[in-house]
Amino acid sequence: MYWQQLSTKEFADRVVGRADTVLIPVGSVEAHGPHLPLGADNLTPEAICQRIERGHPDRIVVAPTIAYGHTWELAKWPGTISLSSRLVADYATEVGQAMVAWGMCQVIFVNGHGGNVGPLTEAMERIAESSARVLLINWWLDFSADILSVTTGQGHAGEDETSALLAVCPDLVDMTAAQQNPNRMRWTGMKAQDILDRKFRHALTGNAKLASQAKGEAILNLVEQRILQLLDDLWADRLFDERRD
Ligand SMILES: [Zn+2]
Repeated sequence: MYWQQLSTKEFADRVVGRADTVLIPVGSVEAHGPHLPLGADNLTPEAICQRIERGHPDRIVVAPTIAYGHTWELAKWPGTISLSSRLVADYATEVGQAMVAWGMCQVIFVNGHGGNVGPLTEAMERIAESSARVLLINWWLDFSADILSVTTGQGHAGEDETSALLAVCPDLVDMTAAQQNPNRMRWTGMKAQDILDRKFRHALTGNAKLASQAKGEAILNLVEQRILQLLDDLWADRLFDERRD
Protein backbone atom coordinates (compact mmCIF):
# COMPACT_ATOMS: atom_id res chain seq x y z
CA MET A 1 0.00 0.00 0.00
CA TYR A 2 0.97 3.59 -0.49
CA TRP A 3 0.32 5.96 2.39
CA GLN A 4 -0.58 8.95 0.26
CA GLN A 5 -2.93 7.00 -2.01
CA LEU A 6 -5.18 5.79 0.82
CA SER A 7 -8.23 7.68 2.06
CA THR A 8 -8.51 8.09 5.81
CA LYS A 9 -11.24 5.42 5.80
CA GLU A 10 -9.07 3.03 3.83
CA PHE A 11 -6.20 3.75 6.22
CA ALA A 12 -8.41 2.97 9.21
CA ASP A 13 -9.69 -0.23 7.60
CA ARG A 14 -6.54 -1.59 5.99
CA VAL A 15 -3.61 -0.19 7.95
CA VAL A 16 -4.57 0.39 11.58
CA GLY A 17 -4.12 -2.87 13.47
CA ARG A 18 -3.05 -4.71 10.30
CA ALA A 19 -0.03 -3.28 8.49
CA ASP A 20 2.93 -2.78 10.80
CA THR A 21 5.86 -1.92 8.55
CA VAL A 22 6.52 1.36 6.81
CA LEU A 23 9.16 1.95 4.16
CA ILE A 24 10.20 5.59 3.90
CA PRO A 25 12.23 6.46 0.80
CA VAL A 26 14.77 9.16 1.64
CA GLY A 27 16.87 10.98 -0.91
CA SER A 28 18.06 14.38 -2.01
CA VAL A 29 17.81 16.94 -4.76
CA GLU A 30 21.39 17.08 -5.89
CA ALA A 31 23.73 17.28 -8.86
CA HIS A 32 24.53 13.82 -10.22
CA GLY A 33 27.05 14.36 -12.97
CA PRO A 34 26.03 15.90 -16.28
CA HIS A 35 24.02 12.83 -17.24
CA LEU A 36 21.62 12.02 -14.38
CA PRO A 37 18.55 13.88 -13.07
CA LEU A 38 18.73 15.97 -9.90
CA GLY A 39 16.24 13.60 -8.26
CA ALA A 40 18.38 10.49 -8.77
CA ASP A 41 18.64 9.82 -5.03
CA ASN A 42 14.85 9.87 -4.70
CA LEU A 43 14.06 7.85 -7.80
CA THR A 44 16.16 4.81 -6.93
CA PRO A 45 14.85 4.32 -3.36
CA GLU A 46 11.30 4.83 -4.62
CA ALA A 47 11.82 2.10 -7.22
CA ILE A 48 13.32 -0.22 -4.58
CA CYS A 49 10.35 0.39 -2.26
CA GLN A 50 7.92 -0.37 -5.09
CA ARG A 51 9.60 -3.72 -5.66
CA ILE A 52 9.47 -4.59 -1.96
CA GLU A 53 5.84 -3.51 -1.57
CA ARG A 54 4.79 -5.88 -4.35
CA GLY A 55 5.91 -8.83 -2.22
CA HIS A 56 3.91 -7.83 0.86
CA PRO A 57 1.17 -5.38 -0.13
CA ASP A 58 -0.95 -6.00 2.98
CA ARG A 59 1.79 -5.67 5.57
CA ILE A 60 3.93 -2.90 4.12
CA VAL A 61 3.00 0.73 3.63
CA VAL A 62 5.26 2.87 1.46
CA ALA A 63 5.39 6.42 2.80
CA PRO A 64 5.77 9.58 0.73
CA THR A 65 9.42 10.28 0.01
CA ILE A 66 11.55 12.53 2.19
CA ALA A 67 12.89 14.19 -0.92
CA TYR A 68 15.24 16.87 0.41
CA GLY A 69 18.44 15.86 2.13
CA HIS A 70 21.74 17.11 3.47
CA THR A 71 24.20 17.53 0.63
CA TRP A 72 26.95 19.90 1.71
CA GLU A 73 29.58 18.69 -0.72
CA LEU A 74 27.58 19.33 -3.88
CA ALA A 75 25.68 22.41 -2.73
CA LYS A 76 27.30 24.69 -5.31
CA TRP A 77 26.25 22.69 -8.36
CA PRO A 78 23.24 24.07 -10.26
CA GLY A 79 19.96 22.72 -8.96
CA THR A 80 21.23 21.22 -5.70
CA ILE A 81 19.15 21.92 -2.60
CA SER A 82 20.89 21.20 0.68
CA LEU A 83 19.16 21.26 4.04
CA SER A 84 21.10 21.35 7.28
CA SER A 85 21.90 18.03 8.87
CA ARG A 86 19.99 19.13 11.98
CA LEU A 87 16.83 19.85 9.98
CA VAL A 88 16.93 16.51 8.16
CA ALA A 89 17.40 14.70 11.48
CA ASP A 90 14.48 16.56 13.09
CA TYR A 91 12.24 16.13 10.05
CA ALA A 92 12.90 12.40 9.69
CA THR A 93 12.46 11.94 13.44
CA GLU A 94 9.04 13.57 13.54
CA VAL A 95 7.86 11.76 10.39
CA GLY A 96 8.95 8.44 11.88
CA GLN A 97 7.45 9.15 15.29
CA ALA A 98 4.11 10.05 13.69
CA MET A 99 4.15 6.76 11.81
CA VAL A 100 4.87 4.83 15.00
CA ALA A 101 1.83 6.56 16.52
CA TRP A 102 -0.23 5.06 13.67
CA GLY A 103 0.88 1.57 14.57
CA MET A 104 4.07 1.08 12.61
CA CYS A 105 6.26 -1.31 14.64
CA GLN A 106 8.97 -1.39 11.98
CA VAL A 107 10.10 1.94 10.55
CA ILE A 108 12.51 1.46 7.67
CA PHE A 109 14.35 4.31 6.00
CA VAL A 110 15.34 3.29 2.48
CA ASN A 111 18.02 5.86 1.82
CA GLY A 112 19.59 6.83 -1.49
CA HIS A 113 21.95 9.57 -0.38
CA GLY A 114 25.22 9.48 1.53
CA GLY A 115 24.77 12.87 3.19
CA ASN A 116 21.66 11.59 4.95
CA VAL A 117 23.39 8.78 6.82
CA GLY A 118 24.40 10.96 9.77
CA PRO A 119 21.04 12.70 10.27
CA LEU A 120 19.09 9.47 9.74
CA THR A 121 21.20 7.66 12.30
CA GLU A 122 20.30 10.32 14.83
CA ALA A 123 16.62 10.12 13.81
CA MET A 124 16.66 6.33 14.24
CA GLU A 125 17.78 6.61 17.83
CA ARG A 126 15.16 9.19 18.66
CA ILE A 127 12.35 7.19 17.01
CA ALA A 128 13.56 4.04 18.74
CA GLU A 129 12.84 5.66 22.11
CA SER A 130 9.39 4.15 21.41
CA SER A 131 8.81 0.40 21.16
CA ALA A 132 9.34 0.49 17.38
CA ARG A 133 12.26 -1.05 15.57
CA VAL A 134 13.94 1.37 13.24
CA LEU A 135 16.13 0.34 10.33
CA LEU A 136 18.31 2.23 7.90
CA ILE A 137 19.01 0.71 4.51
CA ASN A 138 21.70 2.45 2.46
CA TRP A 139 21.34 0.36 -0.66
CA TRP A 140 24.72 1.13 -2.25
CA LEU A 141 26.61 0.58 1.03
CA ASP A 142 24.78 -2.32 2.66
CA PHE A 143 24.78 -4.42 -0.50
CA SER A 144 28.11 -3.23 -1.82
CA ALA A 145 29.52 -6.75 -2.13
CA ASP A 146 26.54 -7.80 -4.25
CA ILE A 147 26.78 -4.67 -6.36
CA LEU A 148 30.49 -5.25 -6.98
CA SER A 149 29.63 -8.69 -8.35
CA VAL A 150 27.88 -6.75 -11.12
CA THR A 151 29.96 -3.59 -11.59
CA THR A 152 33.69 -2.91 -11.59
CA GLY A 153 33.25 0.00 -9.20
CA GLN A 154 30.88 2.23 -7.31
CA GLY A 155 30.45 5.97 -7.13
CA HIS A 156 28.19 8.96 -6.76
CA ALA A 157 26.53 9.06 -10.18
CA GLY A 158 29.15 6.43 -11.06
CA GLU A 159 28.85 3.01 -12.65
CA ASP A 160 26.46 1.46 -10.13
CA GLU A 161 24.17 4.43 -9.54
CA THR A 162 23.97 5.28 -13.23
CA SER A 163 23.17 1.66 -14.02
CA ALA A 164 20.38 1.71 -11.43
CA LEU A 165 18.93 4.86 -12.97
CA LEU A 166 19.12 3.31 -16.44
CA ALA A 167 16.89 0.55 -15.10
CA VAL A 168 14.56 2.89 -13.18
CA CYS A 169 14.10 5.81 -15.59
CA PRO A 170 16.10 5.37 -18.82
CA ASP A 171 14.48 8.40 -20.42
CA LEU A 172 16.06 10.65 -17.76
CA VAL A 173 19.61 9.39 -18.33
CA ASP A 174 21.84 10.88 -21.03
CA MET A 175 24.66 8.40 -21.52
CA THR A 176 26.22 10.62 -24.20
CA ALA A 177 27.06 13.05 -21.37
CA ALA A 178 28.41 10.40 -18.97
CA GLN A 179 31.87 11.14 -17.55
CA GLN A 180 34.65 9.56 -15.56
CA ASN A 181 36.21 11.18 -12.51
CA PRO A 182 39.93 10.34 -12.72
CA ASN A 183 40.46 11.17 -9.04
CA ARG A 184 39.91 8.63 -6.32
CA MET A 185 40.30 10.06 -2.84
CA ARG A 186 42.71 8.21 -0.59
CA TRP A 187 40.97 9.31 2.60
CA THR A 188 37.25 9.93 2.14
CA GLY A 189 36.68 11.01 5.74
CA MET A 190 37.70 14.60 5.08
CA LYS A 191 35.82 17.87 4.56
CA ALA A 192 37.45 20.84 2.83
CA GLN A 193 36.34 23.32 0.16
CA ASP A 194 39.53 23.05 -1.87
CA ILE A 195 39.16 19.33 -2.59
CA LEU A 196 35.56 19.35 -3.81
CA ASP A 197 36.31 19.94 -7.48
CA ARG A 198 38.66 16.95 -7.53
CA LYS A 199 36.58 14.70 -5.29
CA PHE A 200 33.47 15.42 -7.35
CA ARG A 201 34.88 16.22 -10.79
CA HIS A 202 31.89 16.58 -13.14
CA ALA A 203 29.74 16.26 -9.96
CA LEU A 204 30.47 12.54 -9.82
CA THR A 205 32.83 9.90 -8.51
CA GLY A 206 33.82 6.73 -10.33
CA ASN A 207 33.11 6.02 -13.98
CA ALA A 208 29.59 6.54 -15.29
CA LYS A 209 30.61 5.45 -18.79
CA LEU A 210 30.70 1.82 -17.68
CA ALA A 211 27.03 1.82 -16.71
CA SER A 212 24.35 -0.20 -18.47
CA GLN A 213 20.69 -0.95 -18.06
CA ALA A 214 21.39 -4.66 -17.69
CA LYS A 215 23.75 -3.97 -14.79
CA GLY A 216 21.09 -1.78 -13.23
CA GLU A 217 18.46 -4.50 -13.46
CA ALA A 218 20.88 -6.96 -11.90
CA ILE A 219 21.66 -4.55 -9.06
CA LEU A 220 18.00 -3.84 -8.34
CA ASN A 221 17.18 -7.54 -8.36
CA LEU A 222 19.96 -8.27 -5.88
CA VAL A 223 18.95 -5.38 -3.62
CA GLU A 224 15.32 -6.50 -3.77
CA GLN A 225 16.23 -10.07 -2.77
CA ARG A 226 18.40 -8.86 0.09
CA ILE A 227 15.74 -6.58 1.51
CA LEU A 228 12.99 -9.20 1.20
CA GLN A 229 15.24 -11.58 3.13
CA LEU A 230 15.92 -8.87 5.69
CA LEU A 231 12.18 -8.34 6.18
CA ASP A 232 11.58 -12.06 6.63
CA ASP A 233 14.33 -12.15 9.26
CA LEU A 234 13.05 -9.01 10.95
CA TRP A 235 9.46 -10.21 11.15
CA ALA A 236 10.58 -13.62 12.45
CA ASP A 237 12.97 -11.98 14.94
CA ARG A 238 15.94 -13.71 13.35
CA LEU A 239 18.25 -10.82 14.10
CA PHE A 240 21.37 -12.61 15.26
CA ASP A 241 23.66 -15.38 14.15
CA GLU A 242 25.26 -17.57 16.74
CA ARG A 243 29.00 -17.23 17.02
CA ARG A 244 30.88 -20.41 16.37
CA ASP A 245 34.37 -19.23 17.24
ZN1 LIG B 1 23.07 9.72 -5.78
